Amino acid sequence: MNNNMLKKLLIPILIVLILLGVIFYKKINKTENLSSYNITDIYDKNNIMPVVILGSGPAGQSAGIYACRAGFKTLIIEGSKPGGQLTETSYVENWPGEKKVLGSDLMQKLKEQNEKLGVSFLADDVSKIDFSKWPFELITSEGIKLNALSVIIATGSSPRKLNIPGEKEYWGRGVTTCAICDAPFYKDKNVIVVGGGDSAAEQVLQLSPHVKHINMLVRKDKFRASAAMQERIKEIKNLTVLYNKELKNIFGNQEHVNAVEIYDNKTKTTNKINIDGVFLAIGHIPNTALFKDQLDMDGAGYLKVSCPSQKTSVAGVFAAGDVEDHIYMQAGIASGAGIKAALDAGNFLHNIGYNSTVAQKIENKLYEPEISGPSVVSSIKTMAELNKLIKSKKPVILDFWAHHCPSCLQMMPAFEYLAKKFEDKMSFVKIDIDEAEKDLIEKLYVLKVPTFIVYKEGQIVARFSEFMTKSQMTNFVKKFI
Ligand code: NDP
Repeated sequence: MNNNMLKKLLIPILIVLILLGVIFYKKINKTENLSSYNITDIYDKNNIMPVVILGSGPAGQSAGIYACRAGFKTLIIEGSKPGGQLTETSYVENWPGEKKVLGSDLMQKLKEQNEKLGVSFLADDVSKIDFSKWPFELITSEGIKLNALSVIIATGSSPRKLNIPGEKEYWGRGVTTCAICDAPFYKDKNVIVVGGGDSAAEQVLQLSPHVKHINMLVRKDKFRASAAMQERIKEIKNLTVLYNKELKNIFGNQEHVNAVEIYDNKTKTTNKINIDGVFLAIGHIPNTALFKDQLDMDGAGYLKVSCPSQKTSVAGVFAAGDVEDHIYMQAGIASGAGIKAALDAGNFLHNIGYNSTVAQKIENKLYEPEISGPSVVSSIKTMAELNKLIKSKKPVILDFWAHHCPSCLQMMPAFEYLAKKFEDKMSFVKIDIDEAEKDLIEKLYVLKVPTFIVYKEGQIVARFSEFMTKSQMTNFVKKFI
């Protein structure tokens, strides 16, 4: 190439480079377009919160620590599963710095650390959220309206269900996703665990000391679980792993599960076996329904973040943990993502002009969660106590719970809250299944915690054995008063 040719090409090359620069600048500016975020817009608002974190698993609580330590008033809305999925795990042996710690203890420690630093917690979930205007408007199930200056979404994921005949009908009466909660109900019984991942292996470990025998149904000819988890279940004496097997049907005797139909996808044959319990561990689905049409998601519903940051498609909104990560799905990684999200939120707040002067100006307009008073929930242990109670004109709601049931503990604040709210209209009663007489548990066919049973005029009118968010529990209770 001679000099003349180079000179001729120089101008087009320069034009192309300038155009590319403009496109790149626009792209950056598009994701970072903060011109519509006017800090003075917040002065006429109430219930303001600089950082609102949705979800209280490892991602949410790690974000809380960093946001608060960066000097921002921070609120964690605990969500439908306070503490997240780790509360349903038994021992965690891969959390850096902890040789062996109970999942629920780890989450409790994180909560205490957050509280000590000054993070506020709200035992509620968000029912409505509007990311189209700023400050972002959030409405909780309890009707609390918040103006969030930044939002970190750490809503995690929920266990997937099979959607096969019998699953819904026998939910809580032999079908469950929580071994740590329900294993004690299956003492010396035969159960199946469906799934071949780490969660399924974890359920096997939790069930094995209680049950007579476990059949583990893996739909492929190999596990998905990590080598470490496979190694741990290898030695279990009362476990049989059945490969290439799929669960097709769940049968029962109206009261509880007594058999299942299993399909062998290699031999194409079906087999019916007697069984007392079905434990599902077939993966998770992200909790993102609330953000549909507002934030960019992938085909499976996971929130998209612009790596290496935790930014979502809306400036000021960040996502961390299992709600955006379908690859690693580890508590440690969720925690790291939560930390990144908090740092991103801090940068965002600085970039829009949030500083100590602004913080001082809105000091009296910040949201402060209410502090709850003494409990009005009573406890019973015997059939005689129950018989006396249900003679009353007021409907009665029984909450069968256990200390080893994370969902039960997570729902307790909502149960206490409703007990206070509807004290005159309904009796709210707790029954600790480990303390109550056997008769009371068996006569009411309680095979799962949590289980809620409602009596009206001495008769059972409803029964529910699944986790309920505060709003779901409110709607459930309202049907009977
Ligand atoms: P995974 O997605 O890892 O595994 C799901 C399992 O369920 C797979 O074996 C899958 O089969 C099977 N499955 C999915 N759908 C069906 C269906 N319809 N019928 C039958 N089987 C089905 O989910 P997990 O919940 O086990 O784990 C999620 C993440 O959490 C992982 O990253 C895991 O490592 C982590 N985790 C770690 C733990 C630990 O370290 N102690 C404990 C629990 C979870 P297939 O393989 O054929 O797709």
